[in-house]
Amino acid sequence: MGISILGSTGSIGKQALEVCESLGLNIISLIAGSNASLLEEQVRKYRPLVAALYDEEAASGLRSSVADLPCRVLGGMNGIIEAVTLRETDTVLTSVVGIAGLVPTIAAIEAGKNIALSNKETLVTAGSIVMEKARENGVEILPVDSEHSAIFQCLAGNRREDAKKIILTASGGPFRGFTPQQMRKVTPEQALRHPNWSMGDKITIDSASLMNKGLEVIEAMWLFGMKPDDIEVVIHKESIIHSMVEFVDGSVMAQLGAPDMRIPIQLALTWPERAANSFRRISLTEIGSLTFEKPDMEAFPCLGLAYRAAGTGGTLPAAMNAANEVAVASFLKREIGFCQIPEIIGQVMEEHRVNTRPSLDDIIDTDLTSREMAADIIRRYASKVQDP
Ligand code: MG
Repeated sequence: MGISILGSTGSIGKQALEVCESLGLNIISLIAGSNASLLEEQVRKYRPLVAALYDEEAASGLRSSVADLPCRVLGGMNGIIEAVTLRETDTVLTSVVGIAGLVPTIAAIEAGKNIALSNKETLVTAGSIVMEKARENGVEILPVDSEHSAIFQCLAGNRREDAKKIILTASGGPFRGFTPQQMRKVTPEQALRHPNWSMGDKITIDSASLMNKGLEVIEAMWLFGMKPDDIEVVIHKESIIHSMVEFVDGSVMAQLGAPDMRIPIQLALTWPERAANSFRRISLTEIGSLTFEKPDMEAFPCLGLAYRAAGTGGTLPAAMNAANEVAVASFLKREIGFCQIPEIIGQVMEEHRVNTRPSLDDIIDTDLTSREMAADIIRRYASKVQDP
């Protein structure tokens, strides 16, 4: 099987390469944003036919540095689109962060490639369009996100209409149990220290604010055809149950495993088969007990914002996602506090005029205008802080 990895230099991309190597899969193309040096290492090790970088300058640097290899190097969005639609590719694993994954994912679907989906923003911003295109092109979308992989496994062998409710588990992140007052003082360093999962910076901050879980609610809605009211978030600090499905007869199915992203990555690439591996196993007697709590919606307002966006639909999730991307980047640069992330998102959602049946262009436009709106709000905050 031929694999293309969109986002190969990120946390999931690196783990996906490890999995592909152990499965003996053929790497057709590797695609990244601007990290030419790591991509060069990967090209030397995995020998893809094509490598692509979004940053054109970085791409021309890579072109000269791998001139001794037969690998073709492409640049820019057109280069990325070419790299995910190559004839030799069967499955595209999309692990790029943010809305940047949307356009190439749609191009891959239109070219009939199966999608191992790790980029949740694709479904959050354009779920209706992406799912419809997948149906039209007979393309399978296999979830890589651990929760959605769990739900997918719980649903396997059951009729979709017999699923009544999805129970999406969340670790609660580093600030589980914090009061809204305590949340006000948290730093990027604290927010980046996730108790269970090792992930990229953006998703780790989203996990700390519970926006990650909010994005996952919307992702689950589209992947499994559920309403937001039928998706319940439960805090499960051990991260052993990766999610559950409750059926109409009262049975609840759960999927358990070590918190190791290589497991859902591997499953998305081997499904409907499973492959043996040497990843860590869980010992239930060592773990002893599993706990469950309700999420604190007051201390974590991002989750409520995401439910609101999910319920309204149209362009609102794209506006929310754009504001979140800008606010998180700004928090990491210490321009705003942690509690300003939901404030900014809330204001952008308030000001956004929802288009209920958006085209792809409308969604991209919403993304751009909402980013500007969020940046404006951040500038206003900054000038207020400087005023004596
Ligand atoms: Mg997840």
